[in-house]
Amino acid sequence: MTFIKLPELLKSERQVFIDNHPYSHQLFQAAQKNLLGGVPMNWMVKWAGDFPLFVDQAKGAHFTDVDGHSYLDLCLGDTGAMTGHAPAEALETIIERIKNGTTLMLPTEDAIFVGQELQRRFGLPYWQFALTATDANRFSIRLARHITGRPKVLVFNWCYHGTVDESFITLYPDGMAKARQGNLGPPVEPSVTTKVVEFNDLPALEKALADKDVACVLAEPVMTNIGIIHPEPGYHSALRDLTRNTGTLLIIDETHTICAGPGGYTALEGLEPDILTLGKPIASGIPAAVYGFSEVVADLIQDSIEIEDCDTGGIGGTLAGNALSVAAMRVTLEKVLTQEAYDITLPLTDQFVAGVNQVIREFELPWNVTRLGCRSEYWFRPNPARNGQEAAEAIDVELDRYMHLAALNRGILMTPFHNMALISPQTSPDDIELHTRVFREIVSNLVR
Ligand code: PMP
Repeated sequence: MTFIKLPELLKSERQVFIDNHPYSHQLFQAAQKNLLGGVPMNWMVKWAGDFPLFVDQAKGAHFTDVDGHSYLDLCLGDTGAMTGHAPAEALETIIERIKNGTTLMLPTEDAIFVGQELQRRFGLPYWQFALTATDANRFSIRLARHITGRPKVLVFNWCYHGTVDESFITLYPDGMAKARQGNLGPPVEPSVTTKVVEFNDLPALEKALADKDVACVLAEPVMTNIGIIHPEPGYHSALRDLTRNTGTLLIIDETHTICAGPGGYTALEGLEPDILTLGKPIASGIPAAVYGFSEVVADLIQDSIEIEDCDTGGIGGTLAGNALSVAAMRVTLEKVLTQEAYDITLPLTDQFVAGVNQVIREFELPWNVTRLGCRSEYWFRPNPARNGQEAAEAIDVELDRYMHLAALNRGILMTPFHNMALISPQTSPDDIELHTRVFREIVSNLVR
């Protein structure tokens, strides 16, 4: 569907954004002198406005920018702040730990609680800590290669697992697997290290695993980074059977799908991964990540690592497992990312989805909204995509920019680069109502 007014609307939203944010604009210009591209992290230039907002404060489901505007935050640090910003239940513990020392290269007692709780939630007995989900994935891949002696990794088309070299590969229309567009300086052409198949395509998966050269499948149990793509009925049990039958390890990345419940999609659906990775919200916004193993995998790792070599094996991080991260994980698991939190966020997500659907129907838009737990997302196609390629074909960069910027100019931050909303335990029904109103207004401007 083409919206003839889109270019004109986008232009006026861009101007409103510039006019309303003089101080952010000034800071962005000042930053050009010593930050590459004027931002601390390269993708911050991709936000829909001509420059990113500079943030002043964030609390719960809201934040204010340096120009004094308040926003409802439905981005929540792309899951890093899914607990809500600075959750009250965790703050005191985190501050106390900062006062009492944060990093020592030695364990603290909190680690025991975290290990036990992760075991209880995900069913895997043994755990290790890292600082980012990217690292948890990288280390897991390395271990999978090490214990299987196989060279390759298999990922799903249009996946995202952090800055993991092996994962930046896509299937092109000619069926070839090549470096994903924009892949910077790959150490080798990714098809050397990686096989890629479409999600929900079991024959392709079976074929790719048949050679028995794949160490591990790295999978989000529900894809979330190219829209939300659910597995078809029976897909996960077939994935598990195929990986087991070919001696391939299954790594389930729950970094985003933890939105499904306290034990992620794994607990919800009784998955049985060999390795599970998780980062982002697990420490209420303090950098921390975890990766866990089955008994068999843990034994294979333990039996093959010499004490003398264990600090140079390619798995590490001086700050990994630091006292602050671990204390923050403990209090987050104990008091923040609890079943009670999901009992609040799931009904709010029902409300969000109902609001979006109502507007889609009212304006007869060929769009749909998908949902997993407290994450939901509208996508510019009439029905949910079955795989990465179908979802990617529906990307409309200009429409996306308009939807984001128009929402931002009306006080709502959506997750950038797609149209995803996350709900925190501190988000309120009024906040959701505001989103429905704003969504309705910006859509009606588009179709009027
Ligand atoms: N796994 C998944 C599924 C992700 O979506 C992301 C980041 N969006 C990561 C891992 C990497 O997380 P981080 O950037 O915090 O390392």
